[in-house]
Amino acid sequence: MQVYLEKGLIIFERSEGGYYYDQKGKKYIDATSNLLSSNLGHNHPRIIQQVAKQLNQIDSCTLIYSTSKISIEYTHKLLSQIQGSFRHLFFTNSGSEATDTGIKMAKQYYFNKGQPQKNKIISLKGAYHGSTIAATAASGNEYDKRALGEEFSTFKQVRAPNNSNKPLNMTDEAWVDECIREMEDKIKSEQPETIAALLVEPVQLSNGVVVFADRYFQKLRSICDKYNILFMVDEVATGFGRTGTLFAYEEWGVQPDIVLMAKSMTNGLIPMGGVLVTGEIYDNFCGELNSTKEFSHGYTSSGHPLACAAGLATLECIVQESILNQVKEHENQLFQSLKVLESSPLVESVQGKGYMLGVNFNPNLYTDDEFEWELGGVIEMLLKKKGLIPYYEGEGKTIIAPPLNSTINQLMEIVEKIEKACKLVEQSLKLKEKSRRG
Ligand code: PLP
Repeated sequence: MQVYLEKGLIIFERSEGGYYYDQKGKKYIDATSNLLSSNLGHNHPRIIQQVAKQLNQIDSCTLIYSTSKISIEYTHKLLSQIQGSFRHLFFTNSGSEATDTGIKMAKQYYFNKGQPQKNKIISLKGAYHGSTIAATAASGNEYDKRALGEEFSTFKQVRAPNNSNKPLNMTDEAWVDECIREMEDKIKSEQPETIAALLVEPVQLSNGVVVFADRYFQKLRSICDKYNILFMVDEVATGFGRTGTLFAYEEWGVQPDIVLMAKSMTNGLIPMGGVLVTGEIYDNFCGELNSTKEFSHGYTSSGHPLACAAGLATLECIVQESILNQVKEHENQLFQSLKVLESSPLVESVQGKGYMLGVNFNPNLYTDDEFEWELGGVIEMLLKKKGLIPYYEGEGKTIIAPPLNSTINQLMEIVEKIEKACKLVEQSLKLKEKSRRG
């Protein structure tokens, strides 16, 4: 906070396509698509047009006790585009709310089945599922929980097959098997009849963009089937084309029971999130009046008509502009070009999938003896000066996630700017080393 207070933030005034403009008219590449929310770039004319049209029809309509034509239209459109047997969507306003909603749903699903003790949530170490209380509890970052007390006894985390903590000399396959074994052991030791859901991200965005093998998720699905546990997948960051399919789980060949979404659902225009469920889960909440089966949960403005109009237009644009094909066509070139950065002593690893990449700087290298500037933070500062906005998470982890409709030249410009920033820091470190030696 002190750094923010002293240095201030860049104040953006305007956005268009893959760019932001500050108050002085300086142009910045938005290299994270507004933190993976504006997958189709900013101020997309068609999305803006449809939202403006909607504004003249109905400006707000709560879904707590009513519904709107546009929210029904959007839901039908989304369900028609989605692979698998999903039948219903519960609207929220954000990804964190989607996580909390999914968790409450999973717990009440078993409560309604007469198994109230089946209420634990298992998630993966290194995960990020949001900032509300339950989402924080399900996330893997102990630092974020430091002030929250001990109310998390129904949330457990298990190691995931992250390449960076793979034991030496172990093959990728064996590492997946080892982590699957740990998951099963944990489920057995906690007792399966106390576990409601397993919650996972297809790619761990906030953990340096960690990608797992499809096989890992297929095995997790089997474990969930074996122990009668709901398989809940957090697609808040990966959804809406980021990895080259509408949702990342489509590549696994197995279906989740619950899918969480938000961010680029409306291309970032108006906040919206959602929880997708199968018919079997939905039906479990239907009962006679006073049966206590209802899901007494909701947010006043979720499923807002303007957000649904933006969502509908976003889905139409993804299809009509062949966005998924564009990602498939260029993802390899983007990845390989960034991967070249691994030859720099500053970069530990480049990893990711689709247009969701992590450049992980050496967290133990500092650029200034006196102030101990973290390397990733320095690169972020340089990039901003050069007109590029990355997302630096700390501990060396930098996220690059350009809009999915970027041209190849725009993608390469991002790579070039990062390369140049690395070279600059490398040179300054060498100079310092020389002057130290005298
Ligand atoms: N889940 C994942 C995977 C995320 O990446 C995020 C946000 O970055 C969230 C949940 C929380 O979403 P929101 O910030 O919209 O609450």
